[in-house]
Amino acid sequence: MKKTGVPEWQPLEQAVPVDLFRSEVETWAQRIGVSPREIRIRPMKRKWASCSSRGRVTFDTDLLRQPAEFRRDVIVHELLHLKVPHHGKLFRALLKAYLET
Ligand SMILES: [Zn+2]
Repeated sequence: MKKTGVPEWQPLEQAVPVDLFRSEVETWAQRIGVSPREIRIRPMKRKWASCSSRGRVTFDTDLLRQPAEFRRDVIVHELLHLKVPHHGKLFRALLKAYLET
């Protein structure tokens, strides 16, 4: 998921712990029904998250300082790519469904 401009909110002063973030990712992976081979959290310049075709999902460290709702959006978007690689109709429909429930 590409970074587009600067988010309109201020970053949180206190970052959430990596373990908490990781458990958010794992909870969503279960809900969506995917099993990432590896979850990595490291600094990324142009993206909030990416995934490899082999099932490795990487998240930008900056996400730890973003509000919960935004973290959720990025997590769900990226995990969904393990099911649907492209941003087509199906992807958008599923994304919407997951984020509205
Ligand atoms: Zn995407």
